[in-house]
Amino acid sequence: MTTLSGVKKQESGLFDVYPRFDVTPTRAEGVYVYDQNEKKYLDLYGGHGVMSIGHSHPEYIAKVSHQLKQIGFYSNSVMMPIQEEFAEKLTSLSGYTDHQLFFCNSGAEANENGLKLASFHTGKTKVIAFRGSFHGRTAAALNVTDNARLSAPLNKNNFEVVFLDLNDESALIEALKEKDVSAVIVEGVQGVGGLDAPSDGFLNFISRACKEHEALLIMDEVQSGYGRTGRFFAHQHANVSADIICMAKGMGNGFPIGGLLIAPHINATPGMLGTTFGGNHLACAAGIAVLNTIKEESLIENVEHVSEFLITELKALTTIKKIKGRGLMLGVEFDYPVKELRSKLLYDFQIFTGGSANPNLLRILPPLNITIEEIKPFVQALKKVL
Ligand code: PLP
Repeated sequence: MTTLSGVKKQESGLFDVYPRFDVTPTRAEGVYVYDQNEKKYLDLYGGHGVMSIGHSHPEYIAKVSHQLKQIGFYSNSVMMPIQEEFAEKLTSLSGYTDHQLFFCNSGAEANENGLKLASFHTGKTKVIAFRGSFHGRTAAALNVTDNARLSAPLNKNNFEVVFLDLNDESALIEALKEKDVSAVIVEGVQGVGGLDAPSDGFLNFISRACKEHEALLIMDEVQSGYGRTGRFFAHQHANVSADIICMAKGMGNGFPIGGLLIAPHINATPGMLGTTFGGNHLACAAGIAVLNTIKEESLIENVEHVSEFLITELKALTTIKKIKGRGLMLGVEFDYPVKELRSKLLYDFQIFTGGSANPNLLRILPPLNITIEEIKPFVQALKKVL
């Protein structure tokens, strides 16, 4: 097994997914995880931006435990009022009250289904995506991901994708002009790529251009959605409405849930999309607890509040080159690789941070209910280390 500090450990039978932090969490609460020796770590990464309402939130525990005692799972072949409750809460909190909701289990699956649905709807196959994008590892999602190293030989003969620079309006129009494009897919803020984002103006431009050229706008809000940037979806900063919105990470606060919001003009008929596990009772209970908490604890407002504080503090540190991203989806960029800094933060200060494709960037994705007091040790640690 490869650890973040480069240590190789032999453990038979386990696939080496990612380099691992040399930490073994055994319990977690709020913005903290604790190892087997009760050593406390500040979680500014939330396991890849998954922890929206924090670890072991009491409402989450109560709702999921209660549901498990009633009925944990049944498939989409029976009536499930709990799905309707989830859909009503999600569409109303996100403002997408006229969209349909389809449940699945992960971010890649959401994008896979979004791309497929766009193609069903338009009858076309070409897709426009952006440099630096990451949309997942299933076939279609991987095909629109800007990382050839992740593709196997069988992924090579897939549908045509045109990769453009973010915010390049003329290249977008050029790529759309034949009217043979099914969809434009873009992240609200790029996560894995390193926190670059479409400008609000560019999102408006894409939205208008898609309508004009009969293509659909798919917003990948898998990481940037669910309040993370200070709006329910990052693209809502730009006041645009997307045709398909793909979601996952924060939806279940650790329970694997993904979903698609589908605009009413898209003729999504039964059979186009399907799932065994998507929208099961337990997933819905977890998802409802997340939405209730986001609303009751005004977490989207909290994101803006804590973000403002953090950005102001970070801007005062002159060794930081640039602060990227929005809300509590931030990239702290330096002139040099941050591998050593991340290790120091983790092992000397007990603070989890994330990396990205940009080796010089720290990725910060704390739970949305983190307080200013809780995030201060990060700033203090940076001041000591830099
Ligand atoms: N889309 C974005 C923007 C992501 O950040 C990710 C994962 O990091 C995915 C899609 C894929 O999600 P999953 O790992 O749940 O398949």
